[in-house]
Amino acid sequence: MKPYTHEPFTNFAEEKNKQAFQEALNYVQSQLGKEYPVIIGGESIHTDKKITSINPANKEEVIGQVSMADQELAEKAMQEALTTFETWKKWKPEHRANIIFRAAAMLRRRKHEFSAYLVKEAGKPWKEADADTAEAIDFLEYYGRQMLRIKEGFPVNSRDGEFNQFHYIPLGVGIIISPFNFPLAIMAGTTVAAIVSGNTVLLKPANSTPVVAAKFVELMYEAGLPKGVLNFVPGSGAQIGDYLVDHPKTRFVSFTGSREVGCRINERAAKINPGQIWIKRVIAEMGGKDTVVVDNDADLDLAAASIVYSAFGFSGQKCSAGSRAVIHQDVYDVVLEKAVALTKTLTIGNPEDLNNYMGPVIDDKSFKKIMNYIEVGKEEGRLMTGGEGDDSKGYFIQPTIFADLDEKSRLMQEEIFGPVVAFCKARDFDHMMTIANNTDYGLTGALITNNREHIERAREEFHVGNLYFNRGCTGAIVGYQPFGGFNMSGTDSKAGGPDYLLLHMQAKTTAETL
Ligand code: NAP
Repeated sequence: MKPYTHEPFTNFAEEKNKQAFQEALNYVQSQLGKEYPVIIGGESIHTDKKITSINPANKEEVIGQVSMADQELAEKAMQEALTTFETWKKWKPEHRANIIFRAAAMLRRRKHEFSAYLVKEAGKPWKEADADTAEAIDFLEYYGRQMLRIKEGFPVNSRDGEFNQFHYIPLGVGIIISPFNFPLAIMAGTTVAAIVSGNTVLLKPANSTPVVAAKFVELMYEAGLPKGVLNFVPGSGAQIGDYLVDHPKTRFVSFTGSREVGCRINERAAKINPGQIWIKRVIAEMGGKDTVVVDNDADLDLAAASIVYSAFGFSGQKCSAGSRAVIHQDVYDVVLEKAVALTKTLTIGNPEDLNNYMGPVIDDKSFKKIMNYIEVGKEEGRLMTGGEGDDSKGYFIQPTIFADLDEKSRLMQEEIFGPVVAFCKARDFDHMMTIANNTDYGLTGALITNNREHIERAREEFHVGNLYFNRGCTGAIVGYQPFGGFNMSGTDSKAGGPDYLLLHMQAKTTAETL
């Protein structure tokens, strides 16, 4: 087998790639409005209650109607997953991995089609959609290989007359709850990690992006996944989410989303319910308030570009988005001016048009929340550019920069999850590190500097799960920069890292006297 390397991004400067992507968009356009079922034990179940998934760039356009599971169906899915676990856990790891590799090959073949769904359903610009699909392929390729690496367990010592072994077995039924912002990569990655390690799962995708999840579930079954391993239960987080998290037969929950929901899940999962004979494991990857720090000795053009692209890529709707810029006072004005000038060149509009750098935000709720933060920003800081939104056709908000924020202001502390970045002036390097670490979160960060000593200090002092030097703070690659954060950013599970699968397994020691 070829060693793992990450899936290359598509070069849209090449005409043939541009054409192929446009054809995929046309194809997806012809598929709009279809119905997608709940899938339990391989059976497709159409329900009366449906999620209507819409295009956030064009509210009139329906991407699909997805059947919703209620508690009764959630229970049926749980029973199916429990039964299937008894056989799936006995599958050889190689055979489980083969299905995942097949799925990766099929996804690669249909890469632009899946990306086109991301453009339509999540409002991702071409490049962002392409990166999301590439990451999904990477997760499949990487986790398949990781399973092969750990399948025999790890060597342990044996004394004379003794034969000791140490290996991993799966946990049981897992609940996978995924967010809207990487509706393919995170949904697929968290699902496949659980499955390849021998568990069966119930997948609940985000309500705003269920169609791309339904397409992925279809693909997994086409790749040969046995019925009942992956059960698809779209539905209301509040209604079936709590039910499944509380369920005594739930063995683990793999959640990615907001701090609020993650903490709720963690709390509920900690309670032992009647009939439960284990402590549930919770993998919770949550929010961020990520910072790009700029030193006084730094490439200031690189600094401005790192701030702007980290802040506004996918309209700031990445957990890793750089929503704070902390700048040494000596270079503050210059960097601010450069960042504002660069931001003014960004194009915003329907992401189906390759020329638009930024598309919409995901829905009405996000639109209102972000616009509210913009009002807060006007009170707390100085509006430098942007600040306006237009939700007449889709949920568009201009890339927005606020200057001169106090380090404790709301704009510097709270996750906005939109195209808004706050600038804050720092006295010196100590002060920069203090501000960088002064939130409840600890997901990503970047330091732009030419000062070697400061790089080494930041390596120790900048308390984030993913720290980058002289580049932006988004764009972790599976298998290259394992991803996950500290503090209220979550359990630091490090998706795309060498120990991720172990979180879905338990280790067994056997000792035999010879
Ligand atoms: P969200 O509102 O927390 O939703 C995430 C998922 O949780 C959705 O599927 C949602 O379902 C479900 N949910 C809601 N209430 C629930 C409940 N009571 N029980 C169980 N599930 C429930 O987050 P989002 O808006 O989709 O995503 C944005 C957030 O995710 C940001 O905070 C971002 O920082 C974070 N994020 C973190 C990472 C990371 O790796 N650290 C990566 C990506 C995103 P509904 O859609 O039905 O509400």
